Amino acid sequence: MQDNIIIANADDTPSAASWQRQLSRAVRDPQTLCERLGLGSLWQAGAHTGHALFETCVPEAFLARIKPHDPNDPLLRQVLPLSNEALETPGFVSDPLAEAEHRPARGLIHKYHGRVLLIASPNCAVNCRYCFRRHFPYADNAPSRAQWQEALNYLRADESIREAIFSGGDPLAGSDRQLAWLVGELEGIAHLKRLRIHTRLPVVIPDRVDDALLGWLGQARLQTVMVLHINHAQEIDRAVIEACARLQQAGVTLLNQSVLLRGVNDDVDTLAALSERLFDARVLPYYLHVLDPVAGAAHFDVSDDEARELVAGLRQQLPGFLMPRLVREIPGEASKTPL
Ligand SMILES: *Cc1c(COP(=O)(O)O)cnc(C)c1O
Ligand code: SF4
Repeated sequence: MQDNIIIANADDTPSAASWQRQLSRAVRDPQTLCERLGLGSLWQAGAHTGHALFETCVPEAFLARIKPHDPNDPLLRQVLPLSNEALETPGFVSDPLAEAEHRPARGLIHKYHGRVLLIASPNCAVNCRYCFRRHFPYADNAPSRAQWQEALNYLRADESIREAIFSGGDPLAGSDRQLAWLVGELEGIAHLKRLRIHTRLPVVIPDRVDDALLGWLGQARLQTVMVLHINHAQEIDRAVIEACARLQQAGVTLLNQSVLLRGVNDDVDTLAALSERLFDARVLPYYLHVLDPVAGAAHFDVSDDEARELVAGLRQQLPGFLMPRLVREIPGEASKTPL
């Protein structure tokens, strides 16, 4: 439950950046979401049930890409709370990745060789109903500058670490001041070569890619990689393509990860269209994740056999460089596991 979390960088004052105002004005009320999209009382009741478990959050820029009056719209399904979220399903648990066991310092998760995750911001700009972090105790994982020192010391001490990965929440929900400071600290660590940012923000609020962001990102000594999170071609509009172009001009390599979701992208043509559309924005597909078994998201599940069949069909349609790698995250494994 995220109801207690203060959206620290959502800021509606006139001096705030455009993206911060957009974040502070995101639709956070299930009733409003349904009314705006012309969904009737049946959907509204379910939305209240789901919202009580994991709050609604949909920025206007994303809402604008949802077709009204269509409860099956693939973008809507990612963000609309449903009564199904209250169902208990065996095997679907609150911490499916057992991340709590891999935190050597506050805000830091080290599971794989050579790379670590830093929880650079506990907040998100959109709440995806299938999210494996929907039960994540974020309030315990948003370090202050002083508290970052422990994580930074851990990175300084382990020369096998080549890559720092900003994760979250969504790291780009953090302020540029805080992110620029953290990148500055990382740049002082000689054995670090790469900065990777896992984010959905340039997709849901493309104005996040503004001069302030490009300032610290474009000047970094570290090679920068951004892994976007897009599940359907309809998410990529003109504004997203332009945001991607600005990132590329700043020297950022762009990749995408998707989650295979029942009712959103669980057919070959939809996945092929996504890869094609990503390449329109000059983004390469990286991972296609099968769903992590998180409580409240079982209705999105696609079986491993069906996932393999879909990917086999996709391979017959696409050039190799537009094929995402189908993977699952298995707690205790040394990498993502190919299916
Ligand atoms: C997914 C993940 C990574 C990154 O894995 P890659 O295969 O390099 O993309 C790193 N650390 C953790 C904890 C992860 O879950
Ligand atoms: S943006 Fe990412 S971390 Fe945030 S709710 Fe969506 S999937 Fe989860």
